[in-house]
Amino acid sequence: MTREPIMTKDRYRIYSQHLQEKYGERVYKLPVNLPGTCPNRDGTIGKGGCTFCDAQGAGFQCLPSTLSIERQIAENKAFYKKRFSVNKFIVYFQAYTNTYMPLDYFKSCIMAATKDPDLVGIAISTRPDCINEEYLDFLKEVEQTKNLEINIELGLQTVNYHTLGQVNRGHTLAEFIDAMLRIKKRGFATVAHIILNLPGDTMVDVIENAKILSALGVDYVKLHSLYIVTGTVLGRQYEEGKFSMITLEEYIDRVVTFLEYLDPRIVVQRLVGKGPQGDLLFCNWDTSWWIIKESIEEMLEKKDTEQGRMFNYLNGKALKKSW
Ligand code: SF4
Repeated sequence: MTREPIMTKDRYRIYSQHLQEKYGERVYKLPVNLPGTCPNRDGTIGKGGCTFCDAQGAGFQCLPSTLSIERQIAENKAFYKKRFSVNKFIVYFQAYTNTYMPLDYFKSCIMAATKDPDLVGIAISTRPDCINEEYLDFLKEVEQTKNLEINIELGLQTVNYHTLGQVNRGHTLAEFIDAMLRIKKRGFATVAHIILNLPGDTMVDVIENAKILSALGVDYVKLHSLYIVTGTVLGRQYEEGKFSMITLEEYIDRVVTFLEYLDPRIVVQRLVGKGPQGDLLFCNWDTSWWIIKESIEEMLEKKDTEQGRMFNYLNGKALKKSW
């Protein structure tokens, strides 16, 4: 993927604008839900999954997986076309671990999605320990023969491998680095999913998140604030007072600092997530995600800062001083 410098006067690289510049019109993502599971839930790597994971495997915005891929695409597309007058789409395999399924089945799912004439790309969400060269070979063939850009989104959440252990991710930083290097070597666009307020993480981890993603040359980042679902391991820990959440002001500060250390060429898909409907113990400080997003943008303005302001730590920084 070719990365351009910031083109607008915005203080960070905004995904929707990036898509508009890249494709010449607005492009929306269409979530598709496959019947899947995750090696961190079925016992292959772990049981019960990440401590924050609810049974839906992060796919709460999707249609039921019992519907065919074609039908999910058609229904979501009709909704976006009517509501937002959008005509180009990226199919987003979002829930669970989409490359954790037999290769032949995975191939049939991807090929079903490619039939849609309004697609410009396919985004595939997965775990860093669930992607290998066989899957990448197939995806490269699809990218080349169907003229679609393929994005591979890896859930990392944090570079702090102690925290990864505490939330029972079932992988460490090493698997993420390995997967990211393999994917980038094949020329795919890459996305890293990060949660900036996991219990135990501090501002040091926030900065290291930005530095490692920048050093690896990740193309897109997607930030999420932690929400706590009743009945999860994290929910029980929260109810027992084993940890407390940082304040909204601290979250805003963390996002601003993360952006300051992030390579200015990386496109930011999201600053804060939408929580699911349902039985939640904590979600976005009972504040609309839109208000949080605007508060972060206001803070960037107030501090007169921007993405990449502190991006001065790669390529032998000490040797760059003027003598
Ligand atoms: S990797 Fe995703 S689907 Fe698997 S347990 Fe963790 S949050 Fe749930």
